[in-house]
Amino acid sequence: MDHPRKERTLVLIKPDGVQRGLIGEVIKRYEQSGLKLVGLKMFVPTKELIEKHYLIDPEWRVKTGQKTIDSYRKKGKKPPSEDPLKITEIILNNLKRYMVSGPVVAMVWRGMHAVGIVRKITGGTEPLTSDVGTIRGDLTIDSYEVSDIDGRAVRNIIHASGSPEEAEKEIVLWFNEKELINYRLVSEEILYDVNLDGILE
Ligand code: GDP
Ligand code: MG
Repeated sequence: MDHPRKERTLVLIKPDGVQRGLIGEVIKRYEQSGLKLVGLKMFVPTKELIEKHYLIDPEWRVKTGQKTIDSYRKKGKKPPSEDPLKITEIILNNLKRYMVSGPVVAMVWRGMHAVGIVRKITGGTEPLTSDVGTIRGDLTIDSYEVSDIDGRAVRNIIHASGSPEEAEKEIVLWFNEKELINYRLVSEEILYDVNLDGILE
């Protein structure tokens, strides 16, 4: 296994993040953590790309459908269907409409525990309950309930890979290896160097 400092993760700023003028704020938050930006581009994705992206994990349909049913029950509400697959069919269609509605910013961030650090900075999926201090908790206001009533995807600004394995599969989908840059940042010296013997003259 590669050293954890070489971990990579995919981040997408979704169309609502771009429209709200949050590109700079979002990049700032990841950049300040010490992670390294190694790939960056902006374009309008196709529905095919979005479908491939969400179906990379063969379990996604069942897991997300079940999660939705559970979250309705927890709130004492009746889920829109008892069949997880029916629910994810709707979620996926809404996601496809949302994600191709305008440009998105796709990025690859690299560094120690990149996946976990980015998830922490991003916050939980539903803005209503995402922690304060996170991107989804601070910068937007949506909920599953309202997005379901309105028949649209939850506008939560960001996609961030869920695990290192998922990240590697997603990166191949969104980037050519040639678009990703191998380089050193001077700050890596203080983040990773074991001996710290290059500072004092
Ligand atoms: P993420 O990794 O935090 O983005 O969350 P997931 O991978 O679990 O879900 C991917 C996307 O599916 C989310 O960004 C939401 O748009 C949608 N989604 C996930 N869970 C739910 C849910 O319970 N209800 C609704 N309406 N949408 C959901
Ligand atoms: Mg996910």
